[in-house]
Amino acid sequence: MSAEEVRALAPYAASSDNTRGRLHAEARSTSRSEFQRDRDRIIHSSAFRRLEYKTQVFVNHEGDLFRTRLTHSLEVAQIARSIARNLGLNEDLVEAISLAHDLGHTPFGHAGQDALNECMKTHGGFEHNLQSLRVVDVLEERYGGFDGLNLCYETREGILKHCSLENARQLGDIGRRFIDRQQPSLEAQLANLADEIAYNNHDIDDGLRSGLLTIEQMMEIELFARHCGEVKRLYPTITARRMTLETVRRMINELIVDVTGTTKRNILASDPVSLDEVRAAGSLVAFSPSVSEAAIELKRFLRKELYYHYRVQRMANKAKQIVQDLFEAFFDAPRLLPTEHAKRHEQLGPRAIADYVAGMTDRYAIREHRRLFQVGGWQE
Ligand code: MG
Repeated sequence: MSAEEVRALAPYAASSDNTRGRLHAEARSTSRSEFQRDRDRIIHSSAFRRLEYKTQVFVNHEGDLFRTRLTHSLEVAQIARSIARNLGLNEDLVEAISLAHDLGHTPFGHAGQDALNECMKTHGGFEHNLQSLRVVDVLEERYGGFDGLNLCYETREGILKHCSLENARQLGDIGRRFIDRQQPSLEAQLANLADEIAYNNHDIDDGLRSGLLTIEQMMEIELFARHCGEVKRLYPTITARRMTLETVRRMINELIVDVTGTTKRNILASDPVSLDEVRAAGSLVAFSPSVSEAAIELKRFLRKELYYHYRVQRMANKAKQIVQDLFEAFFDAPRLLPTEHAKRHEQLGPRAIADYVAGMTDRYAIREHRRLFQVGGWQE
């Protein structure tokens, strides 16, 4: 355990000293904890760099100021780390999980994932959480001795946020908790909730910036209206843009303070003294009931007003078409696949196509679509 870990870790935190280990045994580092190494491996992976060009809600080239999956992942890590420090949880682990949690996402956000899942329906389906695990376990090619990044069990457990029972059975050890209905570490639970805090709030910011949402609409949301009213009272001449950002900042703060307090109380009540006891307890990282309700109201609002906005839906529609076209073209004629993927296809069949398509950035998918279908793209 590093000096930092000894000083700060609560008994219910995950510690790299008693990690369940890596799939391939490796000598420990003398200068970094095992979870620090995981975090570093994730940052140096090519899947991580590709997050810069993958969408959350807006297609990557729609504007330079919108969140991408990379900035989203950094925001999740920031939120999760602040809470982790207050709770005595393992910051290195929570950071590693946060940075890796979206590695398996297809281009074009959920529209891309739905389309790919549909294409893979009779070939085992496609789940982005499972794909994130596949990226770190199998698809990254960086090390001489093994495929993937060979991360610790606890990091992998956190990355696999959801999983169908059928897939859980096939995964063995790492899928076990879905069958036994056990929780993952508190660090994994926290990364999950930080994800929700991050995207709800930045989607408001991006929604307002894009003009798809208006302040008037947002005033329907109690959480937003309350903070916005306070901001206006304190700064009567503030510009609309600053008012939005100051309001969102205050909302994020309220959610963080609430999760920290509620989780502290939950931990106190259930009093787990080891990671095994955490796994056996119910979900402990949570919002209070009233804030939980406010978060649900916000989610519902965003779904209706932003994600189902006709302009977002048009983008989603195009995105689905692109993913479907690409998959079908490669499925019908695997020779169209670039050589390395064609080789994988010989062994894996359609799964190799799903891996290739899922790994694409938004703009790569658009270009690949053009190369395959647009007359005049001969030279490509
Ligand atoms: Mg996310």
